[in-house]
Amino acid sequence: MMKVQICIIGGGPSGLMLSQLLHLQGIDTIVLEKYPREHVLGRIRAGVLEHGFAELMREAQCGERMDREGEIHRGFDIAHDGRLDRVDLYKYSGGNSVIVYGQTELTRDLYDARDRLGGKVLHNAEDVALHELMSDAPYVTYRIGDMTDRIDCQFVIGADGFHGISRNSIPSGVLREYEKIYPFGWLGVLSQTKPVSPELIYVKHARGFALCSLRSQVLSRYYIQVPLTDSIEDWPDEAFWAELKCRLPEAVAARLITGPSIEKSIAPLRSYVAEPMRYGRLFLAGDAAHIFPPTGARGLNSAASDIYYLYHAMIAHYKKGDDSELDGYSQKALARIWKAQRFSWWMTMLLHRFPDRVAYEDRLQEAELAYLFSSETAMRLLAENYVGLPF
Ligand SMILES: Cc1cc2nc3c(=O)[nH]c(=O)nc-3n(C[C@H](O)[C@H](O)[C@H](O)COP(=O)(O)OP(=O)(O)OC[C@H]3O[C@@H](n4cnc5c(N)ncnc54)[C@H](O)[C@@H]3O)c2cc1C
Repeated sequence: MMKVQICIIGGGPSGLMLSQLLHLQGIDTIVLEKYPREHVLGRIRAGVLEHGFAELMREAQCGERMDREGEIHRGFDIAHDGRLDRVDLYKYSGGNSVIVYGQTELTRDLYDARDRLGGKVLHNAEDVALHELMSDAPYVTYRIGDMTDRIDCQFVIGADGFHGISRNSIPSGVLREYEKIYPFGWLGVLSQTKPVSPELIYVKHARGFALCSLRSQVLSRYYIQVPLTDSIEDWPDEAFWAELKCRLPEAVAARLITGPSIEKSIAPLRSYVAEPMRYGRLFLAGDAAHIFPPTGARGLNSAASDIYYLYHAMIAHYKKGDDSELDGYSQKALARIWKAQRFSWWMTMLLHRFPDRVAYEDRLQEAELAYLFSSETAMRLLAENYVGLPF
């Protein structure tokens, strides 16, 4: 049996970040991760970081490589009707920008930092179960190989992603779930090629949405909207590149450099929020409590705001004996989450082709885009949300 102040379930960005920040404040944590480290680091996911996330990385003493290798982006393009229109984030957000730095790299930096400080991260932890969450003495049981063990703690953080077990430890009579499933997914390809543009290009096209993104100036990430019924086998590399080119404005398609895919996956688009984010001594954070469609890059960035609130609430608890921030966590985190949900839903509706829409709704979508590029007020709304609302 082990004893620790805080037991964190999940060694993704949320769990690692919180454990690193708390460690630096002298608060003892242990992280239980279901998979081996190589598996966690093999996931290709988010790539656009808000200023607030970057600040948190620096506070966690993990920002050095991000600041050296990450790219500052002051805007992006929206391609529509065969042309490109730029969204000047810097101008319309009052001087803010985002950083392009892959989730894989950021997770590696967090693991390295945990190693440097001798942080406790247990991999291959299976059958994780949470107990006595409504008491002052919760505990967690788990199994690694043939060994089962128990961790006694004061708090449990559920940072185990959408498919984790933490959220399901909240009784169904207490948990409220809000969900929207979109009728399509994103087929993503990672390729070791020079990106078609130094900034992101979001593409609205009659054949469906596309996104030209990047991880660096030698690593490109491209996506196309596909029906949910499609699988990877339906999309050999040549078919993917041909379809992407069809959706890009001619001048952009002409300069697209293609190459073999080094990763290819289909992600269904979903919006989801679980309420409340606290149950007794359990606090949910990140994807364990909410999922965003990737349009607008809110997923990882919203995990960061949960971590920021929890980090400060735990400091107030352990250093000042003040529980007001822990008590207010769920309400405060959800207030920001819902605003981010609104934005990612809006951007998804603005740019995708909805197969079940009536022609009237298609015209409204065109009007929404036309309004955006004719109004500085509309631009400001987009920029303010894209660079991230304050924590
Ligand atoms: C395919 C895909 C593409 C994405 N693209 C983007 C994007 O472009 N932009 C963006 O902002 N966001 C994107 N996201 C979302 C972003 O990756 C997540 O918001 C982010 O990973 C959240 O971090 P997290 O630590 O909360 O959850 P996760 O990264 O899911 O980490 C949870 C961890 O918990 C572990 N775990 C699960 N179950 C258990 C258990 N029972 N016991 C112990 N450990 C467990 C998992 O193995 C995992 O390591 C994408 C997500 C996916 C799936």
